[in-house]
Amino acid sequence: MATAQRDLAALEAEVARRAALKMAGYFHDCEPGCQARSSDPADHVPYSGRARPTCRVLYRKHVAFFRAGGQYRQRMFLAGNRTGKTDAASYELVLHLTGAYPAWWEGRRFDTPIEAWAAGDGLQGSDRRMNPWTEVSTPLRNWTL
Ligand SMILES: [Zn+2]
Repeated sequence: MATAQRDLAALEAEVARRAALKMAGYFHDCEPGCQARSSDPADHVPYSGRARPTCRVLYRKHVAFFRAGGQYRQRMFLAGNRTGKTDAASYELVLHLTGAYPAWWEGRRFDTPIEAWAAGDGLQGSDRRMNPWTEVSTPLRNWTL
């Protein structure tokens, strides 16, 4: 196999690997078959393997929170239980730690390595999904392996 073909195959494998990562299922563009202007989840198609749609257009307040990061040093995301606050904050932290900002990102961008803390009150809870360290460390581990 020629070098170019091997390189292309390796790149395609990497694209497929990244598409399967948990991070890829957050705040993504609409899928084929979505009605992109609709804010009704019933009008959207779930991302690969997901139980429900996770298109970015369905999370306008989350995106506004991200965008505000480009203007303000401190922000607060005040919302109800199980609305994705931990996911949103973890998602943004992973972007800052990896520097892998999506093209649509309008929030703050760091162009040099940063040090960060992740803290929360879910560390001793029985619901491991609410553990902010798990939300951050799993994508980081997958990113770096
Ligand atoms: Zn959609």
